[in-house]
Amino acid sequence: MINMKNIAALASCSLVTMTVTMAANAAVLPSNQTNSQWFKSSALNFTEKTQQENKGKAKNVILFVGDGMGVSTLTAARIFQGQQVQGNEGGEENFLSFEQFAHTALVKTYNTNQQTPDSAGTMTAIATGVKSKAGVLSVSDTSLRANCLSSKGNELITLVDLANAKGLSTGVVSTARITHATPAATYSNTPERNWEADSNLPAEAVANECKDIAYQLVMRDEANALSVALGGGRRNFIPDTVTDEENKKGRRSDGVNLTKNWTDNLSNAAYVWDKTGFDAIDTASTDHLLGLFNSSHMEYEADRQDDTAGEPSLTQMTTKSIDILKKNEQGYLLIVESGRIDHAHHAGNAHRALMDTVELSNAVQAAVNSTDPDDTLIMVTADHSHVFTIAGYPKRGNPILGLVHNVDGNVAIADDGKPYTTLGYTNGPGAVIGQRDDLTSVDTQEKGFMQQALVPMGSETHAGEDISLHATGPGSHLVQGVIEQNVIFHIINQAQSLGGTKY
Ligand SMILES: [Zn+2]
Repeated sequence: MINMKNIAALASCSLVTMTVTMAANAAVLPSNQTNSQWFKSSALNFTEKTQQENKGKAKNVILFVGDGMGVSTLTAARIFQGQQVQGNEGGEENFLSFEQFAHTALVKTYNTNQQTPDSAGTMTAIATGVKSKAGVLSVSDTSLRANCLSSKGNELITLVDLANAKGLSTGVVSTARITHATPAATYSNTPERNWEADSNLPAEAVANECKDIAYQLVMRDEANALSVALGGGRRNFIPDTVTDEENKKGRRSDGVNLTKNWTDNLSNAAYVWDKTGFDAIDTASTDHLLGLFNSSHMEYEADRQDDTAGEPSLTQMTTKSIDILKKNEQGYLLIVESGRIDHAHHAGNAHRALMDTVELSNAVQAAVNSTDPDDTLIMVTADHSHVFTIAGYPKRGNPILGLVHNVDGNVAIADDGKPYTTLGYTNGPGAVIGQRDDLTSVDTQEKGFMQQALVPMGSETHAGEDISLHATGPGSHLVQGVIEQNVIFHIINQAQSLGGTKY
């Protein structure tokens, strides 16, 4: 029987010898090590990972995009969710649903003209395999931003176009306006992300026949039509002479009501604008569903229950979409964006950003529960990060939205004699001009609280560091290493044999 003194002697010998010795004498590890819960659970987690290899073909692909959901957002949201679960020690041990996926990669997000990207150039890279400029949607970077003529001939074919051409069904869901940059890059080609309605088009674009984004979503022939489009942005689909059901005016100046074109042009088509209508949709008899639940962006998850007309959650929109798309025996491609994580961060408001991230995690879990892991590839990523940090040395279990309390339980005091929160921003509207506020009596966990920031700016900025990509199902083994963002296009193209190119 080898005693502790031997273990010490072993520690000094070379790693290789040690590994061989340990392999040969597994009993070497002292029981206080092998009996530790940490040791056992990590060993279990490790063995589970080695068994999850699926190199089959993906009949269906679901891509989730958390807009602005950088790694610091994942860590804080994981703890935020964990701290709401009874029995958790501190919340840190929690995992978001997709953090349990076996395959992960780091993704480089820069645009061709910007070190820290915007959502347009990043989603163009994912949807087409081509990195492009900030602000443009699925046109190559030879196009000049907001110049229609320069984009002619530079339009790029997207994953949605390829999937439709292959006879698959396609769907796009977002909590932002469905005409906003991330969803729009999947189905439109335009040199200006802000051309969401015809009234946004400058004379040059009208003269050179560039179409607005809402128009490009609806005015597609059936073979190339989306089967599901759910989100906000109703104002971009209805005439400016119309006041909608929520008492908001439309923004189209061409007098076209695109919601009517949707139901007139497509088979078994339905248009809904509120939760009641959404819930009433019979997925068996509906083949084309357009849902526009807000004049502009949908509500944050933190405020959704206060919405008068009622809005479905991201989870409900995800499962309704799957129920409609899965009717196509050939398969489907569904792209789901949690679009307002980004907006909450721009507003310096971590509480809302974390709640929307947790709702994304719930939507992913619902997709896992309602699909077959043998034929459905599920991927989760972000388009870019935010200057959002987790600071100080808060004790285990310290409320993630709270003030920092050190391991001795005392509130941490900065050099200016005042407490500070764990979460913060490098820049943004929470910046302190002059004296930093004393937060001692401030409820920093209140949903409207704005974390303190360093550099004063009206809107907090994106961040340039890599983001993560998580995958499970057929083809998920292709997700590995550090990759350029446009490689994601090829992972989906290959896994679902969309035929965009030969490898
Ligand atoms: Zn943003």
